[in-house]
Amino acid sequence: MQQTLWGEKLPRRRKKKIIPLPTTAPYAVTDNDCEVLGHTLRAWDLAGCTLCTDCHVNVFCRGCVKVHPLDEHAIHIFCPRHEERTVSA
Ligand SMILES: [Zn+2]
Ligand SMILES: [Zn+2]
Repeated sequence: MQQTLWGEKLPRRRKKKIIPLPTTAPYAVTDNDCEVLGHTLRAWDLAGCTLCTDCHVNVFCRGCVKVHPLDEHAIHIFCPRHEERTVSA
């Protein structure tokens, strides 16, 4: 019977796999996250429309366009260009 060096019991260190618990998520993903924190908008397109990367709702700027061309239920948020006008000096 041939016994190799590796056949012997190797002092194996038991390493515990440390799985980080998702206790502190960087973003609280809730249903009304957008309502609380505001929508995470993509870049505005030339038509004054964008959408939220979180809830994928269509967004348009009423300063740029009267209604969203594709979604009549789209919400309106002023784009950065028109937002400044709403700020009362
Ligand atoms: Zn959203
Ligand atoms: Zn606008």
